[in-house]
Amino acid sequence: MAGAVRGLSARLRIVSGLLAGRFGRPELCAHETEPVRNLVLTILSQNTTDANRDRAYDRLMKRFPTLSALAAARPSELEEAIRVGGLAKAKAKAILGALARIREERGGYSLDFLRGMPLPEARAYLTSFPGVGVKTANILLLFSFGMPAFPVDTHVLRVTKRLGLVPGASTLAKAALSLEPHVETGDHGPLHLNLIRLGREVCRPRNPLCAECPLLTVCPEGKRNMKGKERIA
Ligand code: SF4
Repeated sequence: MAGAVRGLSARLRIVSGLLAGRFGRPELCAHETEPVRNLVLTILSQNTTDANRDRAYDRLMKRFPTLSALAAARPSELEEAIRVGGLAKAKAKAILGALARIREERGGYSLDFLRGMPLPEARAYLTSFPGVGVKTANILLLFSFGMPAFPVDTHVLRVTKRLGLVPGASTLAKAALSLEPHVETGDHGPLHLNLIRLGREVCRPRNPLCAECPLLTVCPEGKRNMKGKERIA
């Protein structure tokens, strides 16, 4: 077991180094660093593109500039404002539910109390909100609080499965929780962002560009795909 654990940590370190060699080490820049606004943003990010998430968020903030105004909005008003991002009804319900509960429990719209909490407890608190899963919670904990949380989205899941870092049957949440403790301190953000970039640009869902992938030397699926073909990069 200890050997397997060390093996996963070492493999993640190699993957991260190879990705940094191709893409550099991205800076963490949250769209919104204020935790409650970041929670709203991450709820809006579910099942949509970054562009449509940002459009929905901008329209929402324009129409309801303060969190109090947003919390007082009617569900139909919210749905109208965020329709561009899809799943408007479910997202509006999740946002209003989260704001109402934070206000009721904390007396205001602040999640700053999470700062001093151990990561598993902070994650458990956030995932107790309807509509907030491990991915959403981890994005918030990483980008707003700088915690060593490792968000796994569909790109990260696909790539890490192909690399054999998580089992083929892993869910987003299982993959996140199994990889997280093995990512080097300080590397959770850069590795997350570089895996997403690789998934979008190279390790695409269909026809991955293995011949030009920086991870080919450490990727079992890439090696299988490349049998009988020539590497071009
Ligand atoms: Fe994906 Fe191919 Fe790269 Fe493996 S070698 S990570 S399958 S693009």
